[in-house]
Amino acid sequence: MPCPKNVNIPGCFAAYNSRYASGYITGMMQYVTGTSALKRGRAMLASNCVQCGACEKKCPQGIRVASELKTVRRSMEPFWFSAAMRIIRKFFG
Ligand code: SF4
Repeated sequence: MPCPKNVNIPGCFAAYNSRYASGYITGMMQYVTGTSALKRGRAMLASNCVQCGACEKKCPQGIRVASELKTVRRSMEPFWFSAAMRIIRKFFG
């Protein structure tokens, strides 16, 4: 952090961990809120990551952030995710 593509890196990882520690619904709710997924143009999703590696150079723990974010994206943004966010924004945004 900060990421040039506005990925909420700790928020993405926290929600991903929550999904497995506390359950699917809890993890997904945390992901949607933690990444501001319902804010058009301002979402901080794992899918924003362009694999530039800037965060990895700054990570004191040597975490392969870009690679791990791909895992988060696959898990937390299934095929229906974008469409669901658009529909929710349309009716409640
Ligand atoms: S690798 Fe991804 S998360 Fe890391 S700084 Fe680049 S765009 Fe952001």
